[in-house]
Amino acid sequence: MKNIVVFLGAPGAGKGTAAAAVAARTGARHVSTGAMLRDAVARGTPAGLEAKSYMEAGGLVPDEVLYRMIAELLAATPDPATLFFDGFPRNEAQAAKLDELAAASGATVSSALLLDVSREALLERLGGRRVCPKCGAGYHVKALPPKVEGVCDACGAALVTRVDDQPATIARRLEVYESATAPVIGFYEKAGKLRRVDASGTAEEVAALVEKAVS
Ligand code: AMP
Repeated sequence: MKNIVVFLGAPGAGKGTAAAAVAARTGARHVSTGAMLRDAVARGTPAGLEAKSYMEAGGLVPDEVLYRMIAELLAATPDPATLFFDGFPRNEAQAAKLDELAAASGATVSSALLLDVSREALLERLGGRRVCPKCGAGYHVKALPPKVEGVCDACGAALVTRVDDQPATIARRLEVYESATAPVIGFYEKAGKLRRVDASGTAEEVAALVEKAVS
């Protein structure tokens, strides 16, 4: 069985950090569509060329680009597997399409975890966020610093601030979340699959709550 757990929550809620930590502990696979798209942009693939301007503006990349990525990923995933989806679906059409794509490849969406956090905490987290351009690992200057300042623990590359973590783009991404992505919560609530997780604590506390919710 291929089992998909969807991680929901605003940008900065800690989806990527929690999904990566719990995936490492449980053997699940962390699938970040944002990281896949950043990689495609860096490599200059057709999907990357199409996605670049939307990402830099803090908007959503066209659904069709994501559908191709997700269909390929599901087809290439051996059975059995548990996949933590971080960043997909991001609107109601994507949520409905995910059920379709999953069914076509023998997978099911078992639950959706909503990482709940206040707006003040989101802004604080997004402002201090750093990312490794080489391996995609995420850090925070205060909450999750690397061992050596500015250097990735995992691969030694110099950390960067994402182009879409600049203040004006952060505001745009939060707006997009409210208008396009928040309705996805209702989609999973209606399906009886929604679980809320308090994401206001430290990275470790949130990971522990997420691990409990998925086990
Ligand atoms: P993230 O790393 O999840 O914050 O994603 C970074 C950016 O990638 C987003 O602001 C979007 O521009 C794009 N992106 C990631 N996932 C999706 C998606 N499911 N649908 C549309 N755009 C996406």
